[in-house]
Amino acid sequence: MTFREKYWKIYLRVEGYISALLYPHAAMCPICGEMRLVDEKYALCEDCMKRLDALHVPHGACDRCLSPVRRGQGCNMCRSGRMKSIDRCYAPFNYRAEVRKLVHEFKFEAVGSFMPYLSLMMTEALVDRDYDYLVPVPLNEKRLLDRGVNQARLLADGLSEKTGIPVMEALDRKGYQKPQSATPMEKRAENVKGIFHANQDLNGLRILLIDDVRTTGSTAQACAEELKQAGAAKVGLCTLAVVYRDPKKFRQKKRRKKFMGHSNYIHKTNIK
Ligand SMILES: [Zn+2]
Ligand SMILES: [Zn+2]
Repeated sequence: MTFREKYWKIYLRVEGYISALLYPHAAMCPICGEMRLVDEKYALCEDCMKRLDALHVPHGACDRCLSPVRRGQGCNMCRSGRMKSIDRCYAPFNYRAEVRKLVHEFKFEAVGSFMPYLSLMMTEALVDRDYDYLVPVPLNEKRLLDRGVNQARLLADGLSEKTGIPVMEALDRKGYQKPQSATPMEKRAENVKGIFHANQDLNGLRILLIDDVRTTGSTAQACAEELKQAGAAKVGLCTLAVVYRDPKKFRQKKRRKKFMGHSNYIHKTNIK
């Protein structure tokens, strides 16, 4: 970034703050920083809204876990059993591009002007509402102190307001594990194994777990396993976004990597 661009960015920010003081019903678009009038459905600027629309979970995803499914084939995620204790997943977005920015903004700014919009999107994604309680995935104490708020609890409160399903903090979390985002994919299940504990009897209850993003599903699975152990009859999972990987693209990437590795090998042997 050149000095000029940096200066321009700072100018836009300052201008944003001044406008926010002058027009209290306006807010900065959390994605691109443009000023706009806030309303539940339009908490972002028009352009960002359009881009978000293109990032909805696509039709044709697995009904149960929302993972990509190739026509005529079963779902890899369901077959792997990685989310075996979860009966159904709901999420409005793919965790990509603008959605990443939005989730990041939400995580670190705690409550943004776009909070009602997020709960509205989650409510729309919840196609059936046969649940008795919403249970947020708990944060560990240290992170809760750092952030001051559990973002899963905020999402659960927003969803509860819209659906009338009460929130229950039925899970406790023990110990201080490394954040899942800093743990390699294949070690995530191990990282959260046995850290969640149900703090009450849930006999026969239908529980909807709430979290911000589902990546490998390991955290949700660890929670759901515990909820079922405590007697829950059904466990669903509602997140703002799921990491959606197009199996076709993933395979191409893998193949390219393999090929690159091979050409590096040839290169090295030639030097020798
Ligand atoms: Zn914007
Ligand atoms: Zn599936």
